[in-house]
Amino acid sequence: MSNIQKLEPIYSGKAKTIYTTNDSGKYISEFRDSLTAFNGDKKSEAPKKGYYNAQISRKIFEMLEENGVETHYKGMASGADMIVDIVEIIKIEVIIRNIAAGSITKRYPMPAGKVFDKPIVVFDYKNDDYQDPMMNEDIAFALGIATYEEMAYLKEAALKINSILVPYFDKNGYLLPDLKLEFGRANGKILLADEISCDTCRIWDKVTKESFDKDIFRFGDGDLTKAYEAVARKLVPEIF
Ligand code: 5GP
Repeated sequence: MSNIQKLEPIYSGKAKTIYTTNDSGKYISEFRDSLTAFNGDKKSEAPKKGYYNAQISRKIFEMLEENGVETHYKGMASGADMIVDIVEIIKIEVIIRNIAAGSITKRYPMPAGKVFDKPIVVFDYKNDDYQDPMMNEDIAFALGIATYEEMAYLKEAALKINSILVPYFDKNGYLLPDLKLEFGRANGKILLADEISCDTCRIWDKVTKESFDKDIFRFGDGDLTKAYEAVARKLVPEIF
C-alpha cells in the first residue's frame, strides 16, 4: 500500500481507467470489472474481474522485474489500483503465439492447438477505428509510430518475456498459447506497460486444455469470474 492518491481520470479504455495522482511521475491504472470483445461490440461486467486481473498482473510484473525486464509497474495503491510510471504508449500490440488459437487459425492454415516449433511474433496497429490491423516495421516507420531499432527491440523484449512466462505458467499448471504486450517510452527507455492478465493472454489448463481467459466471454457464457479466480489462486495465493 502507499500514500499515493488518485486525482483526475484522464483516459478510460475498455477495461482500465488511468488517473493522475499527487505524484507528478506516476499514474494509477484502475482495473475495472467491465469486459468488451470484438472491438467493443460485445460488452458485459464480471464481478471482481478487475481485482483478479490487477493482482495477476502485479505478480507477473514483479516476477518479470526480478528477471531483468523493466516494466511500468511501481506498486499497488489498493487491490485493483496499480501505480505505474507515466509512459508514452507505443500504439502497437505485440502478439506472441506459442500454440495456434484465435485469429491465426482463421487467417492461415494453422489448426487450433498446433504447437509452434518456435514462438511467432506479430505486430498489430493499436487502433480501434481500423480494427487493429497487422503492421510491420515499414508501416510503423511510415506512420511515425516507432523506429526500426524500436521495432527490433520490441520483438526481442517480447521473446524474452515469453521465454520467462511459458515456464512460469507451466509450473502453475497452465499452457500459454498466446499473449498480447504493450510497451511505452519513458526517460529514453522502453518499458513493458499495460497489463498481463487473463484478459490479454490465452491461458489453458495443461491437461484438459480448458480456457481460463477472456475466450470464456468472447465465445461462451461460462463463469468468467470463477476462471480468473482459479488463475489468481495459483499465481497469487497470498490474496486468498
Ligand atoms: P487473437 O489475434 O487471436 O484475437 O489474439 C491473440 C492474443 O492477443 C490473445 O491472447 C488475445 O487476448 C490478445 N489480444 C489481441 N488483441 C487484443 C486486444 O485488443 N485486447 C486484448 N485484451 N487482448 C488482445
